[in-house]
Amino acid sequence: MNPAAKSFVSLFDQNYDVVVFGAGYTGFAAVRLLVAANLKVLVVEPRGQLLWESSCCLENRTDNAPDCSDWQQWLDSMGRHAATSATHLDIAFAEITAARTLLHQQETVRTLLYAMPVAVEWGAEGIGKWTLATKNGFRTINAHHWVDTSENGLIAALCDPRSRGARRRPTFSFHSLTLHSNVWDRYQADVKRFCAAQDIVFSHSVRQNERRLSWADTGMPWHRSVIELLTQLRLAVPFGTDVTVSLCSSDPFPSYQTSAPAAEYSLPPNLLMLSPALSNERLTSIGSRFAWSVKATRDWIHRMPRANLPPLRPFAASAAPTVGRTISCDVAVAGTGTSGALAALSAARQGARVVALDFSASPGGVGIGAGISAYFHGLEGGLQEEIDRLTAEMNLLLEGTNPSARRWHPQGKKLALLTAFENNGITFFGNTLMCGVKKDPQGRLSGILAATDEGLIEIVAPSYIDSTGDGDLCALAGSTFKAGRSGDGRMLAYSQPAFILKSSGNKLNVTAQNFDAGWTDSTNPEELSRARLEGVAQYWKELWTEDNRPLAIAALPGIRQSRNITTDYTLTFSDLVQHTHFADSIGEAGSIADTHSVDFEFEEDEAVFFYWACRLFRHPLRTELPYRMLLPSGLENVWIACRAAGVETTASYAVRMQRDMQRLGEAAGIAAALAAQNGGASRKISLPSLQSRLAKNNQSAPVVNGNGHSNGKANGNSAHATIPGETRLAQGEPGLHLWTLYRDRENHASAVKQALHSPLPAASFYAATILAMWEDASAEPRFIQAITQREMGLPPSELNTGAYGQEIDIPFWLLAIILLRRCGTAQCGKVLREVADNPDAILNVRTAVALTVERLLNRGQISAEVAMDIVNLLLRHPLPDSLLTPSRSTWRSLRKAEQVTLRNESGVDTRQDHSWQLHLVACRVRVRAGLAVHDFMHSYSSDPRAIVRQAFANLAKL
Ligand SMILES: Cc1cc2nc3c(=O)[nH]c(=O)nc-3n(C[C@H](O)[C@H](O)[C@H](O)COP(=O)(O)OP(=O)(O)OC[C@H]3O[C@@H](n4cnc5c(N)ncnc54)[C@H](O)[C@@H]3O)c2cc1C
Repeated sequence: MNPAAKSFVSLFDQNYDVVVFGAGYTGFAAVRLLVAANLKVLVVEPRGQLLWESSCCLENRTDNAPDCSDWQQWLDSMGRHAATSATHLDIAFAEITAARTLLHQQETVRTLLYAMPVAVEWGAEGIGKWTLATKNGFRTINAHHWVDTSENGLIAALCDPRSRGARRRPTFSFHSLTLHSNVWDRYQADVKRFCAAQDIVFSHSVRQNERRLSWADTGMPWHRSVIELLTQLRLAVPFGTDVTVSLCSSDPFPSYQTSAPAAEYSLPPNLLMLSPALSNERLTSIGSRFAWSVKATRDWIHRMPRANLPPLRPFAASAAPTVGRTISCDVAVAGTGTSGALAALSAARQGARVVALDFSASPGGVGIGAGISAYFHGLEGGLQEEIDRLTAEMNLLLEGTNPSARRWHPQGKKLALLTAFENNGITFFGNTLMCGVKKDPQGRLSGILAATDEGLIEIVAPSYIDSTGDGDLCALAGSTFKAGRSGDGRMLAYSQPAFILKSSGNKLNVTAQNFDAGWTDSTNPEELSRARLEGVAQYWKELWTEDNRPLAIAALPGIRQSRNITTDYTLTFSDLVQHTHFADSIGEAGSIADTHSVDFEFEEDEAVFFYWACRLFRHPLRTELPYRMLLPSGLENVWIACRAAGVETTASYAVRMQRDMQRLGEAAGIAAALAAQNGGASRKISLPSLQSRLAKNNQSAPVVNGNGHSNGKANGNSAHATIPGETRLAQGEPGLHLWTLYRDRENHASAVKQALHSPLPAASFYAATILAMWEDASAEPRFIQAITQREMGLPPSELNTGAYGQEIDIPFWLLAIILLRRCGTAQCGKVLREVADNPDAILNVRTAVALTVERLLNRGQISAEVAMDIVNLLLRHPLPDSLLTPSRSTWRSLRKAEQVTLRNESGVDTRQDHSWQLHLVACRVRVRAGLAVHDFMHSYSSDPRAIVRQAFANLAKL
């Protein structure tokens, strides 16, 4: 384990002095004082965003605050990093600072994001426990004291519903947007005049080129009010591309001046109420919220009994939360991200009554909330084209131009989706977390439960679509799934993007900074919280300048991969290489196998062969998509339409791009609407009817090509396609022909065997790789030779570069070690031992040897003694390079050469201890050899990283 890392105890397995609900300014101010008073605190926040008044409402005025030294102190601390002006703070830096504060004090304060209280158990002594709704079901937490900083007093309402009658409404609520320009002198006077006439507040901000417009929320839907304002502004001041809208608030900022109405209700004695709607304070700014919280919390801490407290109640199953409201519809969509938004729209287009929900404030998912606002591969066509055209119109309003059909302004796509939702009559619940399911006696899904800031709701429909990206609905309904690579269970790295402003001449445009922040299991809310805080905190800088400031941290972490649900058909890697046709095709997907890793020894053998022998990282992959990949096994009326659909791990690197996800969503929406007429029977819909409806929407991509299953032939992809594969092998070339030869053993076995004896080293080596794929031991001597002679083979190919320009290739001798796992016998034990007995061996060499030893042992080729001897050698010397960045090049490490600076590196450097990968394989070998696991396995069981803990927990299943 990384020695710096603290050992992990789940936050659900701890008792707290105080639980604080809400991590806005009120909650954050309370937490700072509680921690300073040495109290153990848990913060629960339903959004992923901290200080929501700034991060969601864009509120950043620091004036208008009562005299409060804590507030001043906090502002001063940010001022030291140039993150405040006299009157404003930097919203990105405020969130980064808050994340750092929570992260660095984990001994005393833990943070759970994406969780909503749905039940409170209390009596005369006070609150005993809360039930929280999370992505993976209901959880209970215990504490001595509780603080409610929710805006509307949710905890008070859960304790005594009469408190709802005591809520005051904000006197004003403000929407805001920020404008940027390098030539304000030309336009400022006109923009100000426009604002004065429209009752819009025009103000300056932290950055020189930034201005802010704020206007009162009149109850008009957010998207309509923004579209109206920008249309009028562009008519009044034709600034073209000289002024750009960079950010829009997702929620209005509430400002209170009046008192709350009198109403009778009871509150538990151990609850501090800091909900603005239930107070009589004048709360008009973030500073006044902070100051109010400081004063009230300080008084409360003084009065708080610390000694002789009653023991906390034992952890127990939660009291079942009650459903406040039931909503019926034809199609329920959980998660309205990239795929879910299209699912909801296409179902509504079929005439279905659609209810859709998302724990983000608005639909759009990764493409909006995580700022991934560009298409990368994926195939065009379908309903998405219509949304893209609407987005282009919105981009014109925001940026004055729409330069590319591949890119969009995140706010533009959000405006487009909200408009389309409204026009198609979709009922949308934002900030709503799907947390449970109900089943009828026949095992069919009969309802989904979702947590809102008004309590639990139930949505009842014949058809349900799971578009949560993580397959939450299916997992809660009992579906089986797979997650991560076969070798170590690791999923693709996640990113925590931030918005930045780029300029070309006078034109400024918003784009996202995107980097690999580490690894996480996004299906686990506690782990997702850790990933979010760490991702945000990585933006911290000692000094901020105009050049290095992000505009805002993206609301969602960028999750590339999590579960893949077991479905009627699981799309395979070879489907993608072979361009498989399916009779039940619902469209096509195409990309490259875009993993961000370079340690492919942990991948499936076919992927190893494809990336490292064929050298085809950048090769375009394409397949038709069978309807069956949307149908979770064992569930009758549910569709899984998102990156968690039925795709094997290796294939999901390619089948995850936004266009392809939108296509899955569209197909699921139509199918769910069709099935709703028949009780939701997903397997009984008319396929021709689904396919013809899809075809109607598709302008360019060939959708229906139902001429049976795979023909087993790979694509020809280059000028070389005319040269027979056997000839290219004989010439010692890597490429797709190696895959073709491998897949067609019957016709090419003799040519490959012949090439094994070629005097050309590359020809004989590549022949050996194909033989290894056939599990033919005749490849072994050639591999032993390559290892003994440390044969480098062809130099790294510039064409075989990774997602960010990483070098993918490895030398022949290392590939030989890896492929021996398919064809090796006792003969190769000696050479593996020699490689292992080297104190300088880098991590990837050791993991490659360990994985091969493991497979040889499992295949009965070597004895447990031989396996343990080699593994012990691998562990004997400390690793020279265990602290690695996500995208390092193995070949450069072997040459002890500097790693290249990758395209996406912008000063954000994630380094993690990767020695766990070697230790994991070593433990597996020990278990297979019938030995007890090493002591260090136990420390990994409490590693702060969930994927590491899980990988070691899986040892128990061997
Ligand atoms: C960093 C990064 C870079 C990428 N780059 C590109 C690129 O350049 N081009 C490209 O085409 N693709 C890119 N991709 C891939 C692509 O963006 C995603 O794979 C795709 O958008 C996933 O779509 P989805 O619908 O499965 O998930 P998402 O878009 O993530 O949608 C899932 C939605 O479900 C919601 N949700 C989750 N759980 C719950 C719950 N329990 N209750 C309620 N709501 C829930 C979430 O809030 C979210 O809105 C990138 C992905 C990442 C992460």
